Amino acid sequence: MRRPLRHRQVSSHHKKKKKHDLLDALPDDVVVSILSKLTSTASSPCDLINVLSTCKRLNRLGLNRVVLSKAGPKLFAIKAKNWSESAHRFLRNCVNAGNLHASYTLGMIRFYCLENRESGLSLMAKAAMKSHAPALYSLAVIQFNGSGGTKGDKDLRAGVALCARASLLGHIDALRELGHCLQDGYGVRQNVAEGRKLLVQANARELAFVLRAVARSSSSASLLTWRNTLSNHSSSASSVSSAVCPLLSDYGYSVAVPEVQPANWFLREWFESGRGRLGNGLRLCAHIGCGRPETRPHEFRRCSVCGKVNYCSRGCQALDWKLRHKMECSPAEIWPLEEDGGGAVVVGGGGGDGVGNDVDVRNGVV
Ligand SMILES: [Zn+2]
Ligand SMILES: [Zn+2]
Repeated sequence: MRRPLRHRQVSSHHKKKKKHDLLDALPDDVVVSILSKLTSTASSPCDLINVLSTCKRLNRLGLNRVVLSKAGPKLFAIKAKNWSESAHRFLRNCVNAGNLHASYTLGMIRFYCLENRESGLSLMAKAAMKSHAPALYSLAVIQFNGSGGTKGDKDLRAGVALCARASLLGHIDALRELGHCLQDGYGVRQNVAEGRKLLVQANARELAFVLRAVARSSSSASLLTWRNTLSNHSSSASSVSSAVCPLLSDYGYSVAVPEVQPANWFLREWFESGRGRLGNGLRLCAHIGCGRPETRPHEFRRCSVCGKVNYCSRGCQALDWKLRHKMECSPAEIWPLEEDGGGAVVVGGGGGDGVGNDVDVRNGVV
């Protein structure tokens, strides 16, 4: 009875040793190439952390400049609660290796969370100069709001120009923002028809993006579901709408919202968890996928109908309206009437034109 067991133990030990030898036999450049592929497609920082903790060699090669330069955006999906000097150093090393996602992420964190505005701007500019679309869009939002400075520092034309560049690179939020700017004549000569055209394009791209995500998902059947539009005002409406694609809500379908960008999640977690403190009177953008905080009082646009929510941009306001806020927004002054059984005021008319209800509510925005 003992012999076969001993034989198996020896055999498994031998196999392990053999595997180990095979990895050792791979030249460094091959391992670096494999690790580069891994970091470029990583779904979370854990993918690299697990490799680094495997052995000394993988730890050394995993931090190779080439590997860090190829890392994809999800590798930088650091949780705000895990922020530390070593996380900061890791991002810095990736920036030094020429990684644009790292420049953008660290730029956002420094600008908004660590309040190191100059360094944050310069990191985002570094990524933007190499056509990193989210960095271009973020710089546009900063220009529109004069973030980090005074109201006089707003540069609407620069914001529009940055949005135009980001939208040419396929950034949907930038395209939507540009559409609103053209429609409203904000920072650019008003052209309602062209603005609406861009908004329809933004919605079409959003739809294509979401449907591709659904097609990739193994649980697509549960992601795409018919939603009864008549039940919009039921008590469960807000929980349903919080999980649907805003565009498709116009057509009676619900689809999972595209995932929020890692840098935006970090910002939101940073302030909501209390890790970072908002200054007196400062507020976060109410759109769930944004997380940008005000850098001075009254920096953001407020929904003048209810006065309860604030947005960093026209795009965030339009999206949040479709996604959530239309279920919650009530004019503050009619509340007493409602208590007396008075009629409710409808905010945002019926959409269905591909642009949606945001046009109506936006007229009441300050
Ligand atoms: Zn926002
Ligand atoms: Zn409102």
